[in-house]
Amino acid sequence: MFMMFFRLFGLLILLFLCEITEAQSRKIINIPDIQGYQTLKCDFHMHTVFSDGTVWPTVRVQEAWQEGLDAISITDHIEYRPHSIDINADHNRSFEIAEPLANELKIILIRGAEITRKMPPGHLNALFINNANLLDRVNVNDALREARDQGAFIVWNHPCWKEQQPDSTVWWKEHTYLLKNNMLHGIEVFNESLCPEALGWAIEKKLTIFGNTDEHGSTNFSSEHRPMTLVFSKSRTQGGIKEALFSRRTVVYFDNSLVGESTYLNQLFFASLEFENVPLRLKNEESKLIFIKNISDINYELELAQPGIGFDAPEKIVLIAHQITSIELNGNSEEVAVMKNLKVYYEVKNLKVSNKDNLVITFSFQNN
Ligand SMILES: [Zn+2]
Ligand SMILES: [Zn+2]
Repeated sequence: MFMMFFRLFGLLILLFLCEITEAQSRKIINIPDIQGYQTLKCDFHMHTVFSDGTVWPTVRVQEAWQEGLDAISITDHIEYRPHSIDINADHNRSFEIAEPLANELKIILIRGAEITRKMPPGHLNALFINNANLLDRVNVNDALREARDQGAFIVWNHPCWKEQQPDSTVWWKEHTYLLKNNMLHGIEVFNESLCPEALGWAIEKKLTIFGNTDEHGSTNFSSEHRPMTLVFSKSRTQGGIKEALFSRRTVVYFDNSLVGESTYLNQLFFASLEFENVPLRLKNEESKLIFIKNISDINYELELAQPGIGFDAPEKIVLIAHQITSIELNGNSEEVAVMKNLKVYYEVKNLKVSNKDNLVITFSFQNN
């Protein structure tokens, strides 16, 4: 018994003396790049104990790395700090604590803060600031002007949040003022759920669209993916992201859905797929199979929008993520034998370009 105690004790000492190394894994989010741009996976809205969150800033970086993100911004509230009795620090502190780990893990960490006011104008994230302390102002417009003068990209957060707009979601004259004075550049169209009003305003007023977590606790997306903003950036750098945001090159990704401009959704859709490119030589009353491989994480849900000339194609197709789907085409007239290309049009039900329209894509299969 006595010897066993000593052995155990020795083992414990050994454990303390050795530096314990461990391996961790990072998920890969399979959303392809598009022509000329890298598709960066970003979350621009989250909190730590330095405002009303429950985690330490380095946890945000660790989560981002494990979940396969490229960039995050920690956006602690300027005006709302319920832990301030225990955590008494300035507004730059959460960024400074997270930054060394972000550098080590190659996560792009964008300095940000959430200007937190009642409606109007509500809550706004200032991204790419250089000093959050200077945003601590009595007048909200002074805070936003300061952010703008620091070169910030400013986002209106969660316009659909019931606590601030319980009856209807309204665009206030204060937001028009901000827009005219270069103090409003983007809007969250997804924060917990999709906000149709925000999507409508983004299209109408040319605001950049965002989908963010606004996470306060620890993230729990081990089996799925968190809501995020896909940024089409010329480089995997902070400067690249900033340029892309000001140029409105974003798509919102949540659950199995994408929301954004048709040009980006169309490119993402086709960059996700691989086809065999051999002439089908389809004839009347014959059938041929097309094989489509989907290399992305998204299940594309297609519904026939307009049939092809001289052949029948399936009414509904699901191109399942990381699988090959076969599609049968059936010749239904003599005309088909002379067609150079077989064109068929599908609506992609889970790719949204506006509140009422989904993306429509064209398949063009080589025939002769
Ligand atoms: Zn907020
Ligand atoms: Zn927030």
